[in-house]
Amino acid sequence: MSTLVFIEFNKNTISESSSQAATIANELHNDVYGLTSNNDESYISSLGSKGFDKIFVIDDLNNYSAIEEVINSNGIKTILSPSSNTFKELSSKISTKLNFPIASNVLKIDKNGKISCSIFTGKAESHMINDNDSCIYLLNKNIVESQDFEKKADIVKVDSKVSENSSFEILEQKFIEEDISLNDADVVISAGRGLKGPENWQMIEDLAKKLNAATACSKPVSDAGWRPHHEHVGQTGLKISPKIYFAIGISGAIQHLAGVNSSKTIIVINNDPEAPFFKAADYGIVGDAFEVVPKIINSLG
Ligand SMILES: Cc1cc2nc3c(=O)[nH]c(=O)nc-3n(C[C@H](O)[C@H](O)[C@H](O)COP(=O)(O)OP(=O)(O)OC[C@H]3O[C@@H](n4cnc5c(N)ncnc54)[C@H](O)[C@@H]3O)c2cc1C
Repeated sequence: MSTLVFIEFNKNTISESSSQAATIANELHNDVYGLTSNNDESYISSLGSKGFDKIFVIDDLNNYSAIEEVINSNGIKTILSPSSNTFKELSSKISTKLNFPIASNVLKIDKNGKISCSIFTGKAESHMINDNDSCIYLLNKNIVESQDFEKKADIVKVDSKVSENSSFEILEQKFIEEDISLNDADVVISAGRGLKGPENWQMIEDLAKKLNAATACSKPVSDAGWRPHHEHVGQTGLKISPKIYFAIGISGAIQHLAGVNSSKTIIVINNDPEAPFFKAADYGIVGDAFEVVPKIINSLG
């Protein structure tokens, strides 16, 4: 039996979410295949070390028909995908066309078909049995540690002549310039309206640099134009699961928590001891962000 992993890239290297998916795939089945549109052959073939036996390279991830062909002709029944927007969209197309059920927010997959999923914006877990022999699993990040393997990945170029009649014509795609992708970061430094204005974000960026972290923000902050929209996390923004999430000057409204409450460790800095975020925090500092954050930066040398 084989498992297909949708491979996501972050600045030309495989994302941590996809490496983790490949680790899970190796726990499920012996043959682990990858699918990508990255055609840097020397790098792709090195991905045997991430657990891949074979990698299908396709020109365009919007070419659903060609992807279906890969799935059908290789007898693939299990697909593991990072929960990024691109792959959620691809998964829904594949699901509709090939009649694969989708399990989302997946926390654990058992070899016997038992699945654990996060529900109610991370407040509860649901345990289910998949009685279908095929499934697409949209995985939450950081549910396993990615491992190294001694495998060699063969590259298979997918015949793009199998064409897709897309309803959309892409006119332009703009890629966001980020030093560290928010989706993939182990540490995230996030700040809210407590910072009073965009001119005060330098200390957030300094702390992020010290900790090799990505920056994020609450919705009102991006709505006000203090920070770019792609940094907005929460119910209506990005959902992230870093190993450490710093919430600085953020009240902890339920809509904000919905996007960050599956973080492994939450550290809250707020000058109001009654701020709701402290209830979700693993560690809390009651204090003025303008005093506390520079002290943390200085202590990091
Ligand atoms: C349908 C809907 C969807 C929404 N989706 C989202 C979403 O996706 N993401 C999101 O973030 N919000 C979302 N919201 C908004 C959400 O309800 C809150 O209004 C928002 O999260 C509050 O942002 P904030 O914590 O930055 O600001 P505030 O609520 O103004 O909180 C600022 C915090 O900073 C603290 N503070 C002030 N000064 C300092 C200081 N000097 N040092 C330390 N702390 C200080 C205050 O004590 C306070 O706790 C949504 C709302 C709705 C209705």
